Amino acid sequence: MLSSQAKMQISERAQNACEYCGLHQDDSPLAALHVEHIIPRIHGGTDDLDNLALAGIDCNLHKGTNLTGIDPQTNEVTQLFHPRHHEWNEHFGLQGVYLVGKTATGRTTIRVLNMNSEDQIALRSS
Ligand SMILES: [Zn+2]
Repeated sequence: MLSSQAKMQISERAQNACEYCGLHQDDSPLAALHVEHIIPRIHGGTDDLDNLALAGIDCNLHKGTNLTGIDPQTNEVTQLFHPRHHEWNEHFGLQGVYLVGKTATGRTTIRVLNMNSEDQIALRSS
């Protein structure tokens, strides 16, 4: 179990927003952001702070135990976004209410995590 102090540290580091889609806790009052394992335990991921990220329930559920996906542009197997190793702005951008992938990792993560779902777009429009 994660201590409440660790949870607070993770929330602060993420500025209380999902580290994948950027949804802020204030914009999602009905669903608390979760602490998730970047590398899932099934793949040997640890409970170290470096392997934990703050994520919305949608991103977290879609990510599941995936580490990779298929880039919709090149059909290549591609690593998902890693909040500790990758810079968000290098991989993602916003066009209006739509998230766009600037790189293979960005495009693949948007696809696997379903980051342009109707729900997410509705939250971004509000
Ligand atoms: Zn998210």
